[in-house]
Amino acid sequence: MGRTRINDEQYQHMAYVWGLNYDMENKVIYGERSGYPFLIYASNALTPLMFTITTSAVSSFFPPIGNMEENLLKSRVPMLTSVGQRDSRITALSTNTFDLNTAQQNVECILSVLISFLQERGYIPCCESCKYSVHTEILQTRNEYRHLCPQCEERIAASIWQNMPSVKASSANVVKGIIGTVIGAALGFIFMALLSSYTYIDNVGTLLLSGLMAGTFPASIGVCMGGRPCRATKIVIAVIVVLTVFVGYNAGFVVAFMTERDMSVWMAAKTYISMMLAGMANMKLWTWRLAVAYVAAAAGGFSSYLSASSKFRNPYKVVHIGRYGR
Ligand SMILES: [Zn+2]
Repeated sequence: MGRTRINDEQYQHMAYVWGLNYDMENKVIYGERSGYPFLIYASNALTPLMFTITTSAVSSFFPPIGNMEENLLKSRVPMLTSVGQRDSRITALSTNTFDLNTAQQNVECILSVLISFLQERGYIPCCESCKYSVHTEILQTRNEYRHLCPQCEERIAASIWQNMPSVKASSANVVKGIIGTVIGAALGFIFMALLSSYTYIDNVGTLLLSGLMAGTFPASIGVCMGGRPCRATKIVIAVIVVLTVFVGYNAGFVVAFMTERDMSVWMAAKTYISMMLAGMANMKLWTWRLAVAYVAAAAGGFSSYLSASSKFRNPYKVVHIGRYGR
């Protein structure tokens, strides 16, 4: 089954048809209909046409939406998968479909049925926090959306910002990060030296694999131990990786001398260095191989840095939906 991706233009069109607005930055549709504040978003990336519809309202005459109300609403609008109420938050889910037009019609039907149901039962739109019936905006924290009045929105956003771990890396973290990077570099070096004692360092596969590890170990261990790295830490990590690859690459030749010519470490290192200084090596080939190891190290370092640092980005997301560009 092909996955459908909705582009900004299609989102914008749907929002227009539903009489709502589209927040391009956060890929959600929001706005008021018949006085009720709505937020509509794709339930998840795997089912982009299955929409979650939320609003916030309370009725002083009727009990909150439970099984009975859900069944009643489902009988009125079959394209409703589920609907429920927690406190003042009402959440409805449209059925999954693989066609954009059907999805658009499904949501339109759910919206109009839900609105008339809310009106029939005297539901009054309100803030999810203080329950005052005033104009609300939408605050996204992590993956949760809330309909809040401006005061509650500011208060909750401010308290989240306050309780957030410092965005700036502390000096203790810098030290930990650098220690982690050095440990990773030592592991990368050992890996390069060991690998070249089994297969020759000249081998492109060996170069790629050992370079990859020499980049991956320092970057991932450094970020895991030190947390969010500041710019200086990033530079230190990069310098350590560059040195590790250089030292590991040369150690590969020394190890080869040791195994092939049965030399001691010192003897092999001395022979290798004097051969290099005497210009006996093919420098073009030597440089080319080193470059291959560096490319692999850069790939390993960047990808492991990105995956290790991804945990610093999402958890602290605090977004005011629709406020972008205003
Ligand atoms: Zn409020």
